[in-house]
Amino acid sequence: MSFKENLSKSKEYGVIEFVNHPIVRVSGLPTVEVDEVVIFENDDIGHVSAIRKNSVEIVSYSKVPPKYGTRVTKGGKLLGLTISDGLLGKVISPLGVPRFTYDSFKNEGEEKPIDIQPPVLMSRTRIKRQFVTGIAVIDSVIPLGKGQRELVVGDRKTGKTSTTLTLVKSQILEGSIVVYALIAKDKSFTKKLKEYLESINLMDSVVIVSTSPDDSPSLIDLTPYSAMTIAEYFRDNGRDVVILFDDLTTHAKYYREISLIAKKFPGRDSYPGDVFYKHARLLERAGNFKNDKSKIKEASITAIALAETINGLLSDYIVSNLISITDGHLHFDAAIFNKGRRPAIDLFLSVTRVGKQTQSQISRQLTREVMALMTKYESSSNFKHLGAELTEEIKELLKKGDQVFAFFEQSYQRALPLNMQLVFLGLIMSGAFMTSENLSEIREKKKNLYQSYKDEKVKLMIDNILEKSQTYEAFMDSLDKYKTELMELC
Ligand code: ATP
Ligand code: MG
Repeated sequence: MSFKENLSKSKEYGVIEFVNHPIVRVSGLPTVEVDEVVIFENDDIGHVSAIRKNSVEIVSYSKVPPKYGTRVTKGGKLLGLTISDGLLGKVISPLGVPRFTYDSFKNEGEEKPIDIQPPVLMSRTRIKRQFVTGIAVIDSVIPLGKGQRELVVGDRKTGKTSTTLTLVKSQILEGSIVVYALIAKDKSFTKKLKEYLESINLMDSVVIVSTSPDDSPSLIDLTPYSAMTIAEYFRDNGRDVVILFDDLTTHAKYYREISLIAKKFPGRDSYPGDVFYKHARLLERAGNFKNDKSKIKEASITAIALAETINGLLSDYIVSNLISITDGHLHFDAAIFNKGRRPAIDLFLSVTRVGKQTQSQISRQLTREVMALMTKYESSSNFKHLGAELTEEIKELLKKGDQVFAFFEQSYQRALPLNMQLVFLGLIMSGAFMTSENLSEIREKKKNLYQSYKDEKVKLMIDNILEKSQTYEAFMDSLDKYKTELMELC
């Protein structure tokens, strides 16, 4: 889109009379409309945010502030993004420009508007497929569904970003597309993420939309919306999509900055009143949708929104907004992280509102049993120091609880297949490892079963155990029946 071309088409231009970057006031442009794209004389673009009595208010997306007296012409359309399959494997800005010069490419395809109304209820369908993350603690006690919106919330450096890498891996192996929205992240972070995904051969199914702190706050503000537009493109082509926002508390800060410059009335913590609406409208674009292009006639956008807390405070304005918008949250705890447990998810403070309905009957019952055990474990762990005086029953409970926690410990580099998880957890619950001396033995056994599951025959046997059992009791019975074989694999 060039200034010259558009000027000759519209024969209409305005002149900048006031700049408070990124907000620009322009006189002229009599027929311009709200949300329309405008083009500056140097071909930079902006969009109309408000129309006043004698002037038009424009948000500019360029890094450097536009100059007074510069001419501006109409773009004649809404702010859009050019999208095609060619974006896979690429890192782009929210306006579709390649982020790294060494990695430049020509972006061709359909143009889609960036900020749209969320799809209506009629186009949606019930969330009924499990979103397997490969993270044992999530899949077994806080299960997610495809199309769910889940918040990942916690203090700085508690492993939020790393842990999401596991679910990215797990989902891509299932055939999903992943879209990252990296909001005001350093370029080096973006580069490292891309290189990591390339090193494990997954980048071909990923699109990264990124902005860095030196970009204009208006461009940073666009990041999650552009990423969502890309996610919708792939969903419309019948694919399941995972979208990750890293992170939305940062996004809210930049939105506040623009709003204050634009003189919007500041509300709580100086955020503008519509920040809730903005995030709700964004996340409402996720979900499980009817889709004729997909074999199963549905395609989902699962939204994983990251948010940062200070001292674990969930009552922070933006965080509490996000908690009420999403379908649950995974709570990352700094104290757990400092104890060395990875991922540092607090399973008692984490919530999933739709995930459980997607579980099979066996795994739902297993979740219930594990949660009951862990709750008892928490309340009994104060007695640990009593040692020999404990009853056998409590000793067994504490040992099983320790084993479950040891099973939940996981490096972000390894995604565990669901059935392998269920069988291992079932073995712990059945007391199969009661004779184990220490927890490193459990870690070793888990690793062994993970490796064995790669073997076709073993996979068939484990998958069979789950498929053939109708109920939890039947599942536990067949674990008992195959105990010798399974223990050999561990
Ligand atoms: P930030 O506040 O900077 O966004 P964050 O909460 O996203 O931080 P990360 O950067 O993901 O945290 O993780 C912090 C450190 O913890 C990293 O060095 C990461 O490698 C390590 N880490 C987190 N989770 C795991 C895990 N499951 N396995 C191994 N290392 C982990
Ligand atoms: Mg992070």
